Amino acid sequence: MMETRRASRVFVLYGEPVSYDTESSSVSSLERMVGGRIKGDAWDGYIDFSEPEDPDTVKMVNSGNTGVGEISYDPGLRFSRSVGKSSMEIAMLSENRIPGIADAVLFPRENEVAGMMHSLRNLGIKASIYGGGTSVTGGLSPGSGQHFVSIDASHLKSFSMHGRIAVVGGGMTGFDAESEAEKLGLTLGFFPESFMHSTVGGWVSSMASGQESNRYGDIEDIVLGVELVRSDGTITDPVTPRSSTGITARSIALGSEGRNGIISKVYMKTSSKPARRKYASFIFRSFRDAIDSLSRLESFPDVLRVSDSLETELALSEAGNGLLKRVLERYLNLRGFSKGCIAVVIDSGDSYRQIDDRAARIVSAPAKIWERTRYERPLIANLLWKSGLVVDTLETSVSWDKAYDLYEGVNSEFRDILSSEGIRGIIMSHMSHQYREGCCLYFTFMLNTAKRTEHLKLARDRIVSSFLRNGGSISHHHGIGTQLSGYVDSTHRNLMNILADPVLL
Ligand SMILES: Cc1cc2nc3c(=O)[nH]c(=O)nc-3n(C[C@H](O)[C@H](O)[C@H](O)COP(=O)(O)OP(=O)(O)OC[C@H]3O[C@@H](n4cnc5c(N)ncnc54)[C@H](O)[C@@H]3O)c2cc1C
Repeated sequence: MMETRRASRVFVLYGEPVSYDTESSSVSSLERMVGGRIKGDAWDGYIDFSEPEDPDTVKMVNSGNTGVGEISYDPGLRFSRSVGKSSMEIAMLSENRIPGIADAVLFPRENEVAGMMHSLRNLGIKASIYGGGTSVTGGLSPGSGQHFVSIDASHLKSFSMHGRIAVVGGGMTGFDAESEAEKLGLTLGFFPESFMHSTVGGWVSSMASGQESNRYGDIEDIVLGVELVRSDGTITDPVTPRSSTGITARSIALGSEGRNGIISKVYMKTSSKPARRKYASFIFRSFRDAIDSLSRLESFPDVLRVSDSLETELALSEAGNGLLKRVLERYLNLRGFSKGCIAVVIDSGDSYRQIDDRAARIVSAPAKIWERTRYERPLIANLLWKSGLVVDTLETSVSWDKAYDLYEGVNSEFRDILSSEGIRGIIMSHMSHQYREGCCLYFTFMLNTAKRTEHLKLARDRIVSSFLRNGGSISHHHGIGTQLSGYVDSTHRNLMNILADPVLL
């Protein structure tokens, strides 16, 4: 048992502490839907923890020459590098259940990474890799009782062009990498909602997908190769459009979730920026109708997000009670779309025109508002946590023929949980990505419960099990991390273990 000393205070919600402290009409609507705030249970998003005594790892890092010039033992930094932004972690932290904290944070420069991995192996020190810290699957929490150091990738941020291929440092944030491409009139075409904070190496490692994947593809379509630094050596793909050399560094890095090596460089396709972006919004009669209609399209707009009726109600409540909302509601009632489902569309081509025959076109404002607020929307979740509510998201990939049954299955499972546990909550969904073969369904749910961790764990398990029972995947783009790895079959897990680097947790 280690003795404890200084206490530290850390903000554990998404983004900066100051940026979420505003009132929002959608938050009030959501609170009303789940039975109001939990009185006396408000939380400011900070947690207090006691800094552990220096463990043996620190002595080893100090004396063992890891080859890294910059090392921090700051307790707040060590803490923040040991947790991600998953709701399970936030729920546990809100109940003061503190995870294992890294003993030190190493900030290797590009020329130090290989030596550091080699030294950590020789010293027998375990490590986890930190990109932008936006993991929502527990990917940064190795679990309590483990001694480890955190490798912060933030100094790995070079950017260069090799013809039309961008070679980007694995620790560069999406925002910084895209800004570099933009200076050349180009785009990397990858825009996850966490774009401001998540990193290029994190995207590859968690097999991420951006909000404009219909146009540019998912991360595996954009990444041509990588440089992967392992404790037994470095594997470097050639900077070429493709290579046929057996297993590549790229194939080992995609979906590796920090276990197969440090992704120090990523070679990415670039695209010209589209000359024009068109904005449109539609209302489908129902979610079933939307799924059925879209399953018949051959191509899709760059962005197409269809909300179910509850999420639509919320989106419209954000428009306040103004004239626009009243006119819109009247028009939808007249056309028989009163319980309809909104779709926001951004397109640089003409695919969106196919939707005209299948849904009612309304003003383009909702699509423009969605784009303007796309990176701020997660901050709404902070307000809900602050109110004492539990909020989480789970997403899955499913073929068109099974999509509606999966949607219904998850909703019915959720209703069962509420009635068996005697708690209030809501679940809503949107279709966030489309393929000719199927789509991604993204569920957001909220629980009004005092047993946060217990009920969240139960809800997550029942929802993911429902995905699998209804023909969906464990995840479409969040990855599995430590929280969903139990749903992966043992043969698959054994194979993943074979590729894992012994230094990495
Ligand atoms: C508000 C919010 C919105 C989100 N929106 C999206 C979205 O639209 N699309 C999407 O796909 N995901 C989304 N996510 C999930 C998350 O942003 C992605 O999984 C992202 O790819 C993680 O990148 P990161 O740099 O933050 O990685 P981290 O959270 O730091 O790490 C994630 C995993 O990758 C490993 N890792 C990180 N960097 C490296 C590296 N250089 N080399 C090797 N391993 C590494 C870590 O060890 C860990 O296992 C969202 C998350 C939040 C909180």
